[in-house]
Amino acid sequence: MIGPSGDAAMLDRAPSEVPALTSLVAAAEVGGQEPKDDTPLYAARRKIYPQRVSGTFRRIKWAVLLVTLGIYYLLPFLRWDRGPNAPNQAVLIDLPNNRFYFFLIEIWPQEVYYITGLLIIASLVLFLMNAVAGRVWCGYLCPQTVWTDLFFAIERLVEGDRREHMKRDGKRWTLDTYARKGIKHFLWLMVAWWTGGAWVLYFADAPTLVKELTFGTAPFVAYLWIGILTFTTYTLAGYMREQVCLYMCPWPRIQAALTDEYALNVTYRYDRGEPRCSVTKAKQLRAMGQPAGDCTNCKQCLRVCPTGVDIREGSSLGCIQCGLCIDACNAMMKKLGRPPGLIAYDTDVNIKLRMEGKEPFFRLVRVRTVLYSAIIAVAGGLMLYTLATRESEGISVIHDRNPMFVRLSDGSVRNGYTIRIVNKQLKKREFALSFNGLPATLIDLVGVPPREDGEPWFDVGPDQTHEIRVVVTDYGLPPPPKTAVVFRLTDIATGQQATAHDHFFAPEPR
Ligand code: SF4
Ligand code: SF4
Repeated sequence: MIGPSGDAAMLDRAPSEVPALTSLVAAAEVGGQEPKDDTPLYAARRKIYPQRVSGTFRRIKWAVLLVTLGIYYLLPFLRWDRGPNAPNQAVLIDLPNNRFYFFLIEIWPQEVYYITGLLIIASLVLFLMNAVAGRVWCGYLCPQTVWTDLFFAIERLVEGDRREHMKRDGKRWTLDTYARKGIKHFLWLMVAWWTGGAWVLYFADAPTLVKELTFGTAPFVAYLWIGILTFTTYTLAGYMREQVCLYMCPWPRIQAALTDEYALNVTYRYDRGEPRCSVTKAKQLRAMGQPAGDCTNCKQCLRVCPTGVDIREGSSLGCIQCGLCIDACNAMMKKLGRPPGLIAYDTDVNIKLRMEGKEPFFRLVRVRTVLYSAIIAVAGGLMLYTLATRESEGISVIHDRNPMFVRLSDGSVRNGYTIRIVNKQLKKREFALSFNGLPATLIDLVGVPPREDGEPWFDVGPDQTHEIRVVVTDYGLPPPPKTAVVFRLTDIATGQQATAHDHFFAPEPR
């Protein structure tokens, strides 16, 4: 599985075609000459006109397209009641306040490891999908595939199916051609614009931003991002299409290294299809007792392919495993009264087994599928556990650097700290702060009056952080040069606690 037209692709072909490779090498070595590689470095693009097709995989692709685009366009409008002190948008990236809201979950900047965990799980799910059924992501779920599919649908709607479109493009352009192309580009731009528009809605209250965009009062950055994403969607889905999969995206290369011979892939069953010949020829050959394959060389599989790949040439990076060639070939087989599945999700191992007269099989439980599933389960479980048990308050301490301590005129030693308190609850809370580690100290919160009982306390607003300057003075025996100390934060109403560790510094004894 190396290149769309490279030698490795040739190795993937039916055994009957492989001698061509050995004879090429032999021919190149004649006379002791170095073999020449005349492969051009740049391949001119062939415009692809994929033909409309219907069948199981096409229906699956429509369903996935509707669900994924529906979620993307409508999710910012979904409301989620978090109480009076928090936004009510279900999914919101609140950059000004450094928060990410996802339904029940609120992620703070210091909890960005949850995002890392999610990315790790997403990668492993991708690996697992690849181990089970090849490039499922590429064929059905990748945004490039989904938007290109939508753009193809618009193109076919306006400019006609493959034959009509090719015919019109091949002739001198008329007013009708220009009008159709104009309408197509207008519709593409509308989809691209709405794609960019939906993206910015994830970064602000969606209904408010829609109003602001309508009346031209939205922030400039919103228009900028809509412009950038309109341009990229229009270019990538309208013009670059399969070029993104072939030349820009790293995933085909990565998945080629990750796959194994047991992964299901869209496969031309050459054991059944070869030698390919017309229906009449097949009848004649069979009547003479000679082998004839089921492939009629009708090229329907090639005509419906969105990336212009002939699956009969073997696996290649160009094949996104969308399954549309399966639908096209099954329709052809049905017409001819032959069984479906000449192209199907299958493995090379099974083809070899069938050729040896053995039973094919699919091995779902393999070392890699078990390993990926186990890591996903452990990582997911850990994340759920930490989310469910995470504390709703936090404290962090930074000791003054310069000076580390101050000796006062009465001989006592003073250290200064900056303390940040986090209140993750959506209500105002009162906290007390205590200090442990030295027997005779006085703790002073600069600018915060102590409670009646002398305890230092303060309040922190809902879903906010609060920074306090704290001065600790030791009046006891001369303390050691470095003592481990603990700051303890206590919610006065509930008794919930959080601690932070630091040190108290003093001069070396003389
Ligand atoms: S659609 Fe099926 S029968 Fe037609 S060329 Fe492709 S593999 Fe052969
Ligand atoms: S060869 Fe078949 S599965 Fe691969 S991209 Fe083309 S239509 Fe899709």
